[in-house]
Amino acid sequence: MATDSPTLVSDLWYDDGNIVLQAESSLFRVSLGVLAARSPVFDDIRKLPRSQDQEMYDDCPLIVLPDKAEDLANFLRAVYNSGFFQPPPSKTDFDTLAGILRLSTKYEIPYLRQRALLHLDTIICNTLQDHDTRENKRTIPPRNSLAFLIADLAHEMDLPWLLPPVLYFCTEDIVRDYMYKGERKSMNKSQQVACIKALMPLIKWHQREVLSFLYLTNVDGCKSFAQCNEGRLKLSRACSASEVNFSLISFSGLFEEVVRRVVCTTCCIASRDAHLAGREALWEALPGLFDLPSWETLRTLRAQALAGS
Ligand SMILES: [Zn+2]
Repeated sequence: MATDSPTLVSDLWYDDGNIVLQAESSLFRVSLGVLAARSPVFDDIRKLPRSQDQEMYDDCPLIVLPDKAEDLANFLRAVYNSGFFQPPPSKTDFDTLAGILRLSTKYEIPYLRQRALLHLDTIICNTLQDHDTRENKRTIPPRNSLAFLIADLAHEMDLPWLLPPVLYFCTEDIVRDYMYKGERKSMNKSQQVACIKALMPLIKWHQREVLSFLYLTNVDGCKSFAQCNEGRLKLSRACSASEVNFSLISFSGLFEEVVRRVVCTTCCIASRDAHLAGREALWEALPGLFDLPSWETLRTLRAQALAGS
């Protein structure tokens, strides 16, 4: 909780600093020259003529910023401590990257913004192939309500290329409020509406494309048509069409073990191929289902942002 008495942030309180920054009730004493060398916004502040009534703290000019204390702390650590916020594969966490993304955008430090986006890119992917292998390269640990937090961040920071998979994840629990730093939050209304509108089409895609392997018949090279057809029929009865939240899970992660038990090897391979084709088709359809620009447009925006432009 913020209090009225200021707190000196010890790891960002440099004795030879020449400016004191305040965010909420936290104070940071840092070198303006170092900040100005990286940020044109702080360079402009550095060039401002000192006014007579400039408020001072500890013999340094005091500048009060409207930012959140935690965001500013992480942003300043990234600026002054070169090991604090390295690009992937170094690990980070959502709060750190979100704060650095906000303030590196606001204070125009492209290399830090780019790093934050690269971290997000390890968990929210642009292609199904990357999505399937993301657990091996993710730099942001799982946490409660992560999809909602990223959806909000993408909305706030205008990162539309993240939205197709993120909104898909949000459909899991559109109406649920969630807690973030002791505050009850809920999804922003425009995204909530997009998710609700996408629900029925997602169920259809799940049934028609992703589960299409359940309706294969007389597969070429099958060892036993009757047995395999029966096995698939049993499975199809067990699968609920409304389980759209499983649509993007890979065949090996969800079905392979059970399918292998009820059909022959040839049918199992055909099932895996059909399931993958269904998931690929769904992945490509996601932007349209959420009223977003095409993947082609979104992938171009992503490439430009990750390149730091
Ligand atoms: Zn078979």
